[in-house]
Amino acid sequence: MEIFKEIKPLRAYLKRQRVAGKSVGLVPTMGALHDGHLSLLKASQAESNVTVCSIFVNPTQFNNPSDLVNYPRTFDKDVEILKANRCDVLFCPNEAEMYGIGSIVRFDFGDLDKVLEGQFRPGHFSGVALAVSKLFNIVSPDSAYFGQKDYQQFLIVERLQQDLKFDVRLRCVPIHREKDGLAMSSRNLRLSSPQRKSANAFYQALQLAKKQLLAGIDINAVKDQLRAKFKAMEDVKLEYFELADRSNLKPLKDVTNANQSVLLIAGYVGEIRLIDNLLLSDED
Ligand code: AMP
Repeated sequence: MEIFKEIKPLRAYLKRQRVAGKSVGLVPTMGALHDGHLSLLKASQAESNVTVCSIFVNPTQFNNPSDLVNYPRTFDKDVEILKANRCDVLFCPNEAEMYGIGSIVRFDFGDLDKVLEGQFRPGHFSGVALAVSKLFNIVSPDSAYFGQKDYQQFLIVERLQQDLKFDVRLRCVPIHREKDGLAMSSRNLRLSSPQRKSANAFYQALQLAKKQLLAGIDINAVKDQLRAKFKAMEDVKLEYFELADRSNLKPLKDVTNANQSVLLIAGYVGEIRLIDNLLLSDED
């Protein structure tokens, strides 16, 4: 595996690959790699000749300073995982390489970054869009792979690509889950073992809500019941739970079209913030 910390030699390397007719897939991550990240890597490897995985804990997307400080960093292990999974290139810049003297560009995605994650994490998606734009410009990938786990992020990146005409094909890879249904996440590493058990509440809530909604139960009744359930749990706090339109995240009052609906949830287990979502048309 080729490892680059700097932009210039990475660009030179990728130019040689492209001249040789090779396509490039990009998998942006913040490290602390798990099997969810690996499903993105595999999707890229299936479609691209050269797969670039980036590891960069992007400071501008953290609205909470302690979340940034405590974000899991397992760099040496990540390198081993990527090598074992035949990743071609690792791009792991430091903050100075990515931001230099800093960035003054800010993004505004209209309604799309004001709801759900955007409402509870002001500035988060502007930071995401900044880092993703930088990566698109540095790597110029043919395809870029993102997880459905961060559903709203995928819609933001789609909008970014459409508005700025990035010549990249975007792929959304389904959520990889633990056996009990918990969505894999780097932040899960921070959960104590009792917290790990409680964390399952989010997926259970999504599943139950989906069942109820498809059985015709009113969304407000479903929400009330969920809120009451979370209130009764000591170590888990619900931040939001919403039924929304898949393409613009506008809240829905009922499920008229399961193929167009998504359930999204976020909350805390102790200090650790977790998110999850479920497409109403999914099997699970
Ligand atoms: P992160 O390192 O958390 O920023 O995630 C990097 C990429 O991996 C993002 O596009 C995430 O949506 C994706 N990802 C994270 N967790 C999962 C998962 N459990 N299943 C699929 N993709 C994931």
